[in-house]
Amino acid sequence: DTVTSRLAGFHKLPMEERLAQLGKMFRLAEDELQYLRGVGTLQPVLANQMIENAVGTFSLPLGLGLNMLVNGRDYIVPMAVEEPSVVAAVSFAAKIVRESGGFMAEADPSIMIGQVQVTRFGDPTEAADKILAAKEGILALANSFHPAMVARGGGAKDVEVRVLPAPEGPRAEPLLIVHLVIDTQEAMGANLINTMAEGVAPFIEQLTGGKVYLRILSNLADRRLARAMCRIPVPLLADFEMPGEAIAEGIAQASRFAEADPYRAATHNKGVMNGIDSVAIATGQDWRAIEAGAHAFACREGQYRPLSTWYLEEGHLVGRIELPLALGTVGGPIKVHPGVQVALKLMRVSSARELSMVFAAVGLAQNFAALRALGSVGIQKGHMALHARCVAVTAGARGDLVERIANELVRVGHVKVEKAREIIA
Ligand code: NDP
Repeated sequence: DTVTSRLAGFHKLPMEERLAQLGKMFRLAEDELQYLRGVGTLQPVLANQMIENAVGTFSLPLGLGLNMLVNGRDYIVPMAVEEPSVVAAVSFAAKIVRESGGFMAEADPSIMIGQVQVTRFGDPTEAADKILAAKEGILALANSFHPAMVARGGGAKDVEVRVLPAPEGPRAEPLLIVHLVIDTQEAMGANLINTMAEGVAPFIEQLTGGKVYLRILSNLADRRLARAMCRIPVPLLADFEMPGEAIAEGIAQASRFAEADPYRAATHNKGVMNGIDSVAIATGQDWRAIEAGAHAFACREGQYRPLSTWYLEEGHLVGRIELPLALGTVGGPIKVHPGVQVALKLMRVSSARELSMVFAAVGLAQNFAALRALGSVGIQKGHMALHARCVAVTAGARGDLVERIANELVRVGHVKVEKAREIIA
């Protein structure tokens, strides 16, 4: 394996040298390097085919998360994100985890749920029985809309019926929801699930004598979970002139806080999603779908909880994350957007399932970096140093001046635009 994500000193290189190093390691063609630079990535004609009322394209910085070692394999993680410190934090965290043997990760097969809402069905038990008795017919009908999925080993696999109590309001009828359990293989699956859900609706109406309203996938993809864990020897955590024990204790305390308090859990999970969304955007995933699934899953027991937890065990700090990840290596914009193609080339995953394992590890790494700082010296010290550059640019600094003004802002401990203007002047 000639690819390593351990690129020492990469952050200190000029951008063109980073690209040269990457180009050599992945044998990238000149047009692929251009896509990484963001030049000609999404031509106006493509953008115009992708959405409505298109007037142009929108750019974000693209950075590389380094040092990721997942299940013994090196991953360079492309991340599209506007927030400073996300890429540095994930790379830093991954470096510590790497020294501890890396992340262990696993993921479920690509099982998704399509929902069909039935109304005016009469007796719910009778209606449910009729639907379940016709299960094979419903599956065959669903699969008839996507024969190629069946040929690949995917497609509709099961039918489930849920009867839910009526929400408060004038209608007393309980809800009858049919779930189509669908294996979407390498696709995120929304379109193919929706096609199947719409396709079986008339048959379900016929079976129950009812009327179907909604027919769409559920973004709570809780049959498609990815998990990652890491185990860091406590002495490896020593930093900020503090012993490893003190840092580990801060992280474990942060985890307890998030488990007990939704106000903290929301912010905890935001940090997780800093990493996951960035790689999702760079690799052409539907990040709203990922976000919706993650937060719904975080709330599955009735209280909003952290997606990841940390605890001490036999001289190690152990971190675990679990969340739904409906990802694709085909479908949506993935084969259309040339920048996404290069990003996936860098990721060099062979399946959507492998991709979701890396995503889970990225989320856990991002979370580790945040908690490590929060549970000790606080995040502002590191954050403000990076934020200072943005402030310097806002105040009008360009070129070499950006770094100089930023350093000065940090030195005087006053990272504000007015201060930057004053120094520039
Ligand atoms: P597409 O419909 O674009 O692509 C999936 C298709 O790719 C499959 O139906 C299949 O077609 C083909 N394909 C080729 N090779 C494979 C393979 N190995 N495994 C699986 N499929 C393969 O995308 P999705 O159905 O994944 O839908 C994702 C899109 O839907 C995203 O853009 C998302 O933003 C959008 N969306 C999301 C919603 C939500 O999340 N609530 C709602 C509606 C849309 P074939 O079998 O014919 O070859």
